Amino acid sequence: MELSDRARAAQDAIEPVTSFFVSLRTMDRQAGVVDLAFGDPHEMPLRGLVDALRANLEPRATDWFAYKSSLAPARETIAEGLRGELGLPFDSDDVAMTQGAFGAIALAFRLVADAGDEVVFPEPGWFYTPMLRAANLVPVRAPLTPDGFDLDVDAIARAITPRTRVVVVNSPANPTGRVYARDRLVELGAVLEAASARNGRRIWLLSDEPYRRIRFDGIGFTSPAECYPWTLVDYSYGKVLLAPGQRLGYLAFSPLIPDDVRTELRAALLPLQMGLGWTFPDALMQYAVPALETVSIDVAELQRRRDLMVAALGAAGYDLTVPEGTFYLWSAAPGGDAPAFVTALAGRGVFVLPGTVFDRAGHFRISLTATAAMLERALPALRELAPR
Ligand code: PLP
Repeated sequence: MELSDRARAAQDAIEPVTSFFVSLRTMDRQAGVVDLAFGDPHEMPLRGLVDALRANLEPRATDWFAYKSSLAPARETIAEGLRGELGLPFDSDDVAMTQGAFGAIALAFRLVADAGDEVVFPEPGWFYTPMLRAANLVPVRAPLTPDGFDLDVDAIARAITPRTRVVVVNSPANPTGRVYARDRLVELGAVLEAASARNGRRIWLLSDEPYRRIRFDGIGFTSPAECYPWTLVDYSYGKVLLAPGQRLGYLAFSPLIPDDVRTELRAALLPLQMGLGWTFPDALMQYAVPALETVSIDVAELQRRRDLMVAALGAAGYDLTVPEGTFYLWSAAPGGDAPAFVTALAGRGVFVLPGTVFDRAGHFRISLTATAAMLERALPALRELAPR
């Protein structure tokens, strides 16, 4: 065996995803297939994104494409945005530019957790396990509430042990689309404060909020950073720009973290991002940040697509979680067997993501980033396989 334990563990952790890809490849990918599996674009990229890149493509100095770490104009734009959105006095020196939220999460885990430390995250939840395994950390799942997939603070409290170093909260949440209310987050803050005192070691909160700006019906957003001082916030532009292939994101330290700790964290950024393989976004992406700050997909149109699907699938008898944000629609699979349902649907030319990839074999996820026409085309097959 030549592979490292870490590589093997990451491979095992992502097995349900890789086997889903393999099954997609073996299915007939004829023209006309409606692919609702991933949060990928199905229309041409946003004009604002292309303009921002083009405006910065022409070099203005000999060092335009020299080695760059986290550039000040990008950090300043982001800190100002965070001050407005989260209502906390973020400092631009506490913003690390990263390759999307993936890069920010990987950085956060290595900044504060040591090999063997436990990291608690919600289930169903996003793909934190391979990243944890690759960092020699131990994944611990805390289920969301059975009714409505809300944050279950008691379940998180039960999952905490003396080895817990980080708790991850993802709101708006993938795959459920839920946005967690302030009360729950305040409760969580109290639990983390008490558990840190009991453990004699600080438990960090990682707020994974790449969908922060993608919310429906005017629902408000409370960042966990507002409810617990020891919070690291990660963000990605890949969602709001619907351009996940252009890697751009950040990790920000809450201004409520004590000054001496923030000074330590800041000093560790460059060595750690270098140690991880120079994980800063490309220079061009960083130059574009000030112009990109106001560019967004049409969230009202996304909400119309959500409404269309919620109404149609609800009428067909699907047991849905109505999303309050994100790109996704989460539903129980008819018959309770998501892999069988997803295969039957794929046989009718419609691809969705089985809940197995989120540790929930009885559910499936539809991506609403498809065009309205694609969603309409998917409906007959979804109706045909409906519970009633
Ligand atoms: N966190 C969550 C909850 C996500 O859904 C995703 C992407 O799907 C990410 C992080 C990573 O985002 P990116 O690929 O833009 O880095």
